[in-house]
Amino acid sequence: MFDDTIAAIATPLGEGGIGIVRVSGSEVVKIAKRIFRAKNKNWTTAGSHRLFYGHIVDREGLVVDEALLSYMQAPHTYTREDVVEINCHGGIVPLRRVLELVLGFGARLAEPGEFSKRAFLNGRLDLAQAESVIDIIRAKTDASLKLAMSQLKGELSRQIFSLQHKLLGLLAKLEAVVDFPEEGLEESAAAEILVISQELLSEVEQLIRGAETGKIYRDGISTIIIGSPNVGKSSLLNAMLREDRAIVTEIPGTTRDIIEEIINIRGIPLKIIDTAGLRETEDVVEKIGVARTRDNINRADLVLLVLDAARGLTNGDRAIIESIEEKKLIILLNKVDVEVIKIEKSEVEQLASGRPLLWISAEQRTGLAELEDTIVDMVMSGRTTSSETVLVASVRHKQALEKAASHLTEAISGIRGKLPLDMVSIDLRSAWEDLGEITGETSTDELLDRIFADFCIGK
Ligand code: GDP
Repeated sequence: MFDDTIAAIATPLGEGGIGIVRVSGSEVVKIAKRIFRAKNKNWTTAGSHRLFYGHIVDREGLVVDEALLSYMQAPHTYTREDVVEINCHGGIVPLRRVLELVLGFGARLAEPGEFSKRAFLNGRLDLAQAESVIDIIRAKTDASLKLAMSQLKGELSRQIFSLQHKLLGLLAKLEAVVDFPEEGLEESAAAEILVISQELLSEVEQLIRGAETGKIYRDGISTIIIGSPNVGKSSLLNAMLREDRAIVTEIPGTTRDIIEEIINIRGIPLKIIDTAGLRETEDVVEKIGVARTRDNINRADLVLLVLDAARGLTNGDRAIIESIEEKKLIILLNKVDVEVIKIEKSEVEQLASGRPLLWISAEQRTGLAELEDTIVDMVMSGRTTSSETVLVASVRHKQALEKAASHLTEAISGIRGKLPLDMVSIDLRSAWEDLGEITGETSTDELLDRIFADFCIGK
């Protein structure tokens, strides 16, 4: 538990119907009593988790804003401390005024993520659960949200705890054998430890394999749509977004309004890189020399090259297709609805050399289901897709699992190499610690600071 009381504006700054100032700590009632003139004079004793109507007043007793105050008594709160949330009008000035008053009566401004950090340090959430909160806030699709929610519910943590529990069992067994060395006992214990360590290793490896899928749902696939002017890139983007948000025009280069778009392909978030750039006027041949486009192509996980079926191939198109050899490229022949198809089918097929080639019409919205199938196949090829298994989504968790896997591998080769069992036990203990970093059992203050600094203020 902490001595000080923290406060922050928990809603985004700007104009909104409601804004919330969140306060947590032992002093919340004392502070609220100074600034909140409640209609119900007995609000502090009227029961926990209730909402009270009243006014926020300043030191002179002047009304600052009308407000609803919710009072939640420890320990059944997010931080496990007493919490007050002041719902006032959602403008910058009322929110700032209310916050200033709260700070003026003894609260301290919360650091980013500090409410969640307290939730973790006070045992309300383990570290993986606390981290999932930020993933929930940043979820890009329903599937990303579902994944983050399963982590908040503790599904990943339960699996990690179960692995750790089995490791502790092994360590206890090892200790018993080392402490009481009897004839033959060591050998049979070693055989058993070997089997269990191998099982643990394969469980950890399965989690690592799932991490690629988890990362895709959490962070998305960075995608670039390229092609000559007027081939239909904006039209394709709109068709994929299923709404006409970008302005499609016959004059190239007039739509530069959007910087990043997220397209939801069956739960997989496609992050479209540089949507302004894809409407630039330069010819592809020139553009290919432009470092930024190059960089974007290199950075992208997926490249959608749009060609105009009503026109022939340009040298720029040929150069691009050839240059994106090893990339995840999908070639789209757009405008298949036109009367005269000019593009040389056999030439494009040859250039594509096995990479997916699809006939579409962005305008008539045909071929888009096949495009989605192709994207899903490409992105998920050979990856865990089952929603039944627990998916690891964060790089940090994956790294901890990799360390655990390597310590388990060491332990296994130690047993095989007939190393003394107390040496093996060092590796198993390290694997236990690696796993503990995920749930926060063995994490350092430095790590915690780093994790929570990434949160927003008020969370
Ligand atoms: P961009 O410059 O590559 O972004 O191309 P736009 O999306 O702005 O489209 C250029 C022109 O092609 C516009 O007049 C669109 O209406 C037209 N267009 C786009 N897709 C299709 C299509 O599938 N069929 C036909 N017939 N015209 C299309």
